[in-house]
Amino acid sequence: MQRVTITPVHTTAHATLVDWTASAIETLQVEASKLAATAGISTLPIAIRITDRFTSDVEDRRGLSGDYTTERVGGVVAAIALKSQGAEAGRLVLVNSTAFEGQDTWSFVRLRYTLGHEVAHCLIDECRRVHGAPTGYDPTPVNLLDTIGYTAVSVSDEFIADELAKGLLPAVNLTIDDEGVSITATDRALLAVDRLNGMTEDLDLHVYPGLRNTVERYRRSIVDLDTMTTALVSGIQGALILGAHYRSACRELSPDVGDVRKVDEHPGTRLYLAPFWARLAPCLDSRSGARALGDFKNADQTAFNVGSDAVTEIWRTLGIRFELLEDDAVHMHVEEPADLQSGTC
Ligand SMILES: [Zn+2]
Repeated sequence: MQRVTITPVHTTAHATLVDWTASAIETLQVEASKLAATAGISTLPIAIRITDRFTSDVEDRRGLSGDYTTERVGGVVAAIALKSQGAEAGRLVLVNSTAFEGQDTWSFVRLRYTLGHEVAHCLIDECRRVHGAPTGYDPTPVNLLDTIGYTAVSVSDEFIADELAKGLLPAVNLTIDDEGVSITATDRALLAVDRLNGMTEDLDLHVYPGLRNTVERYRRSIVDLDTMTTALVSGIQGALILGAHYRSACRELSPDVGDVRKVDEHPGTRLYLAPFWARLAPCLDSRSGARALGDFKNADQTAFNVGSDAVTEIWRTLGIRFELLEDDAVHMHVEEPADLQSGTC
């Protein structure tokens, strides 16, 4: 039974993207329907719109004006999955056509990944709608402790969506020209190489020493507490999401590729990302493949609980402990952040 239906509703002049999407829809519907069956989802209509006006489309749907930016740690937003308006079930995937510029092969690799990833998000969101969200989870967090649970769920969602995407569209062999040498590899391996190439630089730019320096700037009274806290909430989440995509993509590569070791040995990985994944990986590694969405509610609750502890541990590594006061206010103790040389980690 076709439980998931995908309808194209594009508003783009980018005909190649439209053609590539059209050729993927049938497979996406069939594979997503199989996952929906194991997840207890009876019907899920998804509309996919490739748009040339991504930012204003997102703002229109969310009732924002001028607040939305497509810039994220590690690149621009290529797509987003939103609730359909009016309907109970149903999702709208907006794909940002401007994120797919440049050489065709790379655009093709990224578009296939994006389509699979966003359809996976739609399935995950629908599971949460049907089965209920984890106890303690706030999808629109205002207070600091709620942002920790929100980060845990967001990171786990990104990793699972990447893993599910691998099953939603089969790997295809592609040939690319790499500085005069012709290389044949699967789209997944190419995506992994793409992620690997950017990872060390992203770690340098956004994770270490960036997160640590944010705390040090507060300790030296260069910024106030609110500025530090806001920067850390988004910085930690950005770093972990970057790590989630990297971790899923690089499962397609051998761990002794030189650059994989470089990423593993980076202080940002050793201080923050690796300890986080050591905790969360046992909960997430089983959630790929055909039955990944089975027993969703329990698995989601575990990811929320374990992930929240793992995010709290990153704050602690950054020298910050939370104390919940009687009136539910959160007191923050800010001490010296751990570092590799200091022996405090
Ligand atoms: Zn995502």
